[in-house]
Amino acid sequence: MQNLTGKVAFVTGGSRGIGAAIARRLAADGADVAFTYVSASSAAGAQALAQELSADGRRALAVQADSADAAAVRRAVEQAVAELGPVDVLVNNAGVFIAGPIGDATLDDYERTMDVNVRAPFVAIQAAQDSMPDGGRIINIGSCLAARAGRPGVALYAASKAALVGLTQGLARDLGARGITANVVHPGPIDTDMNPADGERAGDLVAVLSLPHYGETRDIAGMVAFLAGPEGRYVTGASLAVDGGYAA
Ligand code: NDP
Repeated sequence: MQNLTGKVAFVTGGSRGIGAAIARRLAADGADVAFTYVSASSAAGAQALAQELSADGRRALAVQADSADAAAVRRAVEQAVAELGPVDVLVNNAGVFIAGPIGDATLDDYERTMDVNVRAPFVAIQAAQDSMPDGGRIINIGSCLAARAGRPGVALYAASKAALVGLTQGLARDLGARGITANVVHPGPIDTDMNPADGERAGDLVAVLSLPHYGETRDIAGMVAFLAGPEGRYVTGASLAVDGGYAA
């Protein structure tokens, strides 16, 4: 499918995991893709991915930008707009998962969680929306834990992902007149470095699913591609679960 030809996409946290799958899928659908990463150890891989995405005349850009740094996020969006053009599809994917008993959580844990998971999407949206063409798309990556924590130790993370739901609904109202949609995709357990399918928590997570196995990164990328494409034009303000039936 090439239904994003001529569109520019910007994906935060695109060097690995779900973000890399989204970047690859949007490029496969025809978009020029800019993505961010943070770790020095990911720099070579990120440049290689940008090279891979640049096939067939498409353009791609890998930008190091820590989502915990609001100015860096804004600069990354501005760089993408300058080099590729106004962002048609903004995907706020980068996230951190800091878990543990609520009594052990520090203010630093709180601030890091909120800075990366909530403030960075807010900043990226502000930076992108002015020049975003009519009919643009904002897609935030939430979590199945936003609506149902389901187990102890995830309060901070769940709070941050629930905040994205309110932010997204407000955006849908703010930007709907321009035909811009805003949605949250809530993954369930997806096999990545953050949540490996062979990790120690995996058995407990699978036990509470309707489909008794982990999802793959392409499951999330597929939903994002649908929302980004022409068929997603009448979906806005929605929370879309891709969670193996965690919420069922
Ligand atoms: P990974 O930890 O596997 O990958 C994270 C990606 O985000 C990497 O590209 C990483 O870059 C980047 N990243 C991390 N921190 C920052 C930061 N501070 N600034 C910029 N980029 C950053 O995560 P997943 O792919 O599993 O998760 C992606 C999203 O999906 C997150 O929002 C997560 O909360 C959500 N999610 C994941 C689930 C899962 O089961 N995997 C379930 C529910 C939600 P680098 O390579 O440079 O480190």
